[in-house]
Amino acid sequence: MFDLIDDWGPEKVVLVSDAKTRMRGVLVIDNSARGMGKGGTRMQPNVSVDEVARLARTMTWKWAAADLFYGGAKAGIRFDPTSPDKEAVLRSFAKALRNEVPREYVFGLDMGLSENDAAIINDELGDRGAAVGTPAELGGVAYDRLGVTGFGVAEAADQATVDLGLVGKRVVIQGFGAVGHAAAKRLNELGYTVVGLSTAVGSIHAPDGLDIEQLLAQRVELGDQLVNEYLPQRIAPGSELFLDCDILVPAALQDVITQHNAGDVRARLVTEGANLPTNEGARERLRAQGTAVVPDFIANAGGVIAAAYAMQSRYSPFRPDAGPIMETVSEKLRANPSPVLEKARLGDTTTHEAAFAIARDRVRAAMDLRGAPLRGGAPRERVDITL
Ligand code: NAD
Repeated sequence: MFDLIDDWGPEKVVLVSDAKTRMRGVLVIDNSARGMGKGGTRMQPNVSVDEVARLARTMTWKWAAADLFYGGAKAGIRFDPTSPDKEAVLRSFAKALRNEVPREYVFGLDMGLSENDAAIINDELGDRGAAVGTPAELGGVAYDRLGVTGFGVAEAADQATVDLGLVGKRVVIQGFGAVGHAAAKRLNELGYTVVGLSTAVGSIHAPDGLDIEQLLAQRVELGDQLVNEYLPQRIAPGSELFLDCDILVPAALQDVITQHNAGDVRARLVTEGANLPTNEGARERLRAQGTAVVPDFIANAGGVIAAAYAMQSRYSPFRPDAGPIMETVSEKLRANPSPVLEKARLGDTTTHEAAFAIARDRVRAAMDLRGAPLRGGAPRERVDITL
């Protein structure tokens, strides 16, 4: 059925369809040794079972790396999210999974789904806890608005500089979106100087530092075009990655640092806000030249930590308070990079490899303790549901 079947999972694959609404979808519960399956729900016209299985596996490692007790899972609906029939398809998908939700899986937001869709799922299943990511008006945690991921990236970067004994405070950030702007805001609060910044429209460089407060205000008004307000400071697109600085935060695209250009990175620390901004060759190269890297699934885990909060508070009558969420993000993002940096140093390996090893050890220990040792072969359970 799909490529990704190994000793770790998946444990359960539920394939669902409904001829009436043309809904087709899948839920993959990859590994629940450390807790029930949790991961977002994606709606895309071309989403495949294989893709959902891979994303579910990523969630297994992400929860374990963050040391949070959920298992890896993901759901996918093969449909165009801009279609006027979206709600009917979503309701049909939710109904088809009523045996699994919310005991084995809780819906979350991923590509193609919005806060309103989480509210619709809860309505369809008559259960406030069927989906997280609901709007604040329904008691949800508006974690996108809090900028938790970027905040966490900044906290991780700050702690890593302490752990590594770095003294410089000049930062370059690629991308000024949800992650990049929140990272810039927090780093600025922590006393760092942002000397380079970019959006899809262009890149800017100010060796003496940019006025982050002003840029944050301009972002609200101008979005990515804000770089046009800084024409004298403009530099070639992409060249911000190679500026003279202490910390580099790639927070836009994947694969921007490769084995071919990693040698030009001058930062002492790369803290990955984006997913997969470095490839394997780049990581080896950075390690060889003594540039520390806080890997993506460690540094950008603020979102999953907030999602864990949302899970915890989904039946609560009290409006979730942003304070404890930010405190937990700070605490975890400051605690998690250091064992990874240390394990990589001792094992003479990349921090990505070290982080994977830590996550794998945690999942394996949980499987052993539950008497469910590693096993190969087919998913333990496969269910086909046709409405
Ligand atoms: P976003 O769409 O809000 O912002 C992306 C930013 O990158 C924009 O400012 C855009 O102009 C800029 N950008 C695009 N192309 C660029 C280029 N060629 N050069 C420079 N800048 C460019 O996206 P986001 O939510 O901030 O996500 C950014 C990255 O972080 C992605 O890899 C995403 O998967 C990852 N991530 C996001 C979250 C989250 O909570 N939003 C969580 C984990 C990981």
